[in-house]
Amino acid sequence: MTIDEIFRAARQQCRYLYSEQEINAMVRVLLQHYINLTSTQLYTEPDFQFSIANAQLLTDALHQLSTGRPLQYITGKTEFCGLPFEVNEQVLIPRPETEELVRWAVEELKAYAEPVVLDLCTGSGCIAIAVAKQCPTAKVLACDISAEALAVAQRNAERNNVAVEFFQCDILDSSKFKTHHSSLIILSNPPYVRNSEKALMRKNVLDHEPHTALFVDDEDPLVFYRAIAAIAKQYMQSDSFVMVEINEALATETTQVFRDAGFTSLELRQDINGKDRTVKINKKACCRKSIA
Ligand code: GLN
Repeated sequence: MTIDEIFRAARQQCRYLYSEQEINAMVRVLLQHYINLTSTQLYTEPDFQFSIANAQLLTDALHQLSTGRPLQYITGKTEFCGLPFEVNEQVLIPRPETEELVRWAVEELKAYAEPVVLDLCTGSGCIAIAVAKQCPTAKVLACDISAEALAVAQRNAERNNVAVEFFQCDILDSSKFKTHHSSLIILSNPPYVRNSEKALMRKNVLDHEPHTALFVDDEDPLVFYRAIAAIAKQYMQSDSFVMVEINEALATETTQVFRDAGFTSLELRQDINGKDRTVKINKKACCRKSIA
């Protein structure tokens, strides 16, 4: 099997799932991952012959790709904010929209000397780890309901050489959430895709990514945001903030959850696709009571 042949086989096997451009990009990643070919070789040596063992590895990877298994789960890795992350089926593959949340949060965190940052529903640990990397003076905590996800997140923190304090917690069970830190900055990308929105999702996401990290009931799609608002009320002092990724179809409803919890200063930003995606909720220093 040659380079040229693997590209042709991939286009043939994956044509119903991905565009030709996507397939070519994915094959390049596979070739670099398994064979360690340079990108120049990919273009200049189309007749490069793989060893039998490597041809077998690539054939197997292609087969997985053709069943819709995401490329990042096949190679077991991805990049987020320019950092390397291990991923597997226990964690969501970090999305570019979430990088935008990190960028905004890091910008805001510059105003704090030694902030304590808590990432709720951390999954692969991507938000917590990218923040810890970019804000070395921050103390970063992160939790998730899944022990398996936390194991991946812990390895990712080690891989990126940052200290993040991980703990297991179901934030929907408010009695379980406890921390001795009294002033937190809270970041989160909780599950927010409604079950009814499954029809809009691609098969590779639907069949392979962890449903507990993605989906919420249509009857109560903002349940995680209410839990976040409750934690924020209890564990935030003034001059702090919450930043959350949201379902673009539920921006008004999501901001209302925070207004109902007593937060009045909110900012909404769109992602690169122009969709309502990130909300920053400010907890301002308390106004002085006016004297009658
Ligand atoms: N943005 C992700 C997606 O559409 C969902 C992330 C989430 O539920 N928090 O696949």
